[in-house]
Amino acid sequence: MRDKVEAFLEQVKVRNGHEPEFLQAVEEVAETVIPYIVKHDIYFGKNILLRMVEPERVISFRVCWVDDAGEIQVNRGYRIQMNSAIGPYKGGLRFHPTVNLSILKFLAFEQVFKNSLTTLPMGGGKGGSDFDPKGKSDGEIRRFCHAFMSELFRHIGPNTDIPAGDIGVGAREIGYLFGMYKKIRNEFTGVLTGKGLSWGGSLIRPEATGYGNVYFANSMLNTKGDSFNGKNVVISGSGNVAQFAAEKVIQLGGVVLTMSDSSGFIYDKDGIDEEKLAHIMYLKNDKRARIHEYLEKYPNAEFHKGETPWGVKCDIALPCATQNELHEEDAKKLVENGCICVSEGANMPSTKGAIEVFHNAKIFFAPGKASNAGGVATSGLEMTQNSLRFNWTREEVDKKLQEIMEDIHKSCIDFGTEEDGYVNYVKGANIAGFVKVADAMLAQGV
Ligand code: GLU
Repeated sequence: MRDKVEAFLEQVKVRNGHEPEFLQAVEEVAETVIPYIVKHDIYFGKNILLRMVEPERVISFRVCWVDDAGEIQVNRGYRIQMNSAIGPYKGGLRFHPTVNLSILKFLAFEQVFKNSLTTLPMGGGKGGSDFDPKGKSDGEIRRFCHAFMSELFRHIGPNTDIPAGDIGVGAREIGYLFGMYKKIRNEFTGVLTGKGLSWGGSLIRPEATGYGNVYFANSMLNTKGDSFNGKNVVISGSGNVAQFAAEKVIQLGGVVLTMSDSSGFIYDKDGIDEEKLAHIMYLKNDKRARIHEYLEKYPNAEFHKGETPWGVKCDIALPCATQNELHEEDAKKLVENGCICVSEGANMPSTKGAIEVFHNAKIFFAPGKASNAGGVATSGLEMTQNSLRFNWTREEVDKKLQEIMEDIHKSCIDFGTEEDGYVNYVKGANIAGFVKVADAMLAQGV
């Protein structure tokens, strides 16, 4: 079987050899999906996976904007329209200096599987820019967002492609992007998700990725009669996903020990409770400060400059920062220290080597495309509400989110349970996500 996977990857490398993150994401899928294709006549011999790794459309454009000093700045904008077999393209926009085609193609590829898993009719896409929001004034952010949308608008629409947020794109940026789209098109539609509540947004959307990740981890723990109650939890990141993952962990009786940003991590051995979390939200969302400022109010905590939190002893780890933030050595430390469950809130935070360590140790490991799907699932619920011109209550949306996360968990069990009973959630998520998209592609012809 390995030779078939290698032969496939060689073909993919010919076109994408210079895109390491994209190849990493493709390899993880190929290793689990190719054996499934080989066993099932309906997929075999149709080059279906080769078709899925080639984006339907890649859009790249120039974004010029004027900074506060009056200088003209130039950035690059992108939108990858990866796959529309089961619905319009759907996926976030990332504004970060590391953004390039490899990163956006890996994210768009993962999004196709993730969106398929949500049970909602959404294809996959991703976009963004190498623009760095760090240190920019509100006016600069606004001018950049307006310039970005003044080109992107011609490629998107509520039935074509519906962007949302990702790293560097939150409620404020979605507002500015929506404002420009509305102005150019003169129409008020659900073209973006993550909108403000008074103009078409959905309750629970800000919380959804973090909450969903914890719901998913809880479903994994429940299979062994376990729960979050009394568990020590290590979280990386301190943005939208990490904040609401922490909130849900606290609600379920877990103890949050760490949070981080690119400058390092804070370790509060007394636990980050609701009040302390509210302060982190203020620091990160309102003050746009660095995480070490936490110590000014809570001096008993430690700040570990330039480090990730994986060496802290814990029961559960939730990587909620960014791709490839958890390496093989980190995974070994987590397992040695007794960690029983790793559930990814970010996209592809664990490297291939780290995942192997978790699988060999037979601990619970959830890949982001399953465990962080709550965000885009709730975006799907926002689209539904926009189409209905109606708003559901907080309870209604939260209930639907919980049901979707349970459905995704069940799909992973159905497709990922090994002969010895261990659930390989990577395999489960990849195959379950693949089947729905592949069936639609085959039905629609070449
Ligand atoms: N950026 C998020 C993700 O990685 C959400 C995308 C969306 O809501 O469209 O799934």
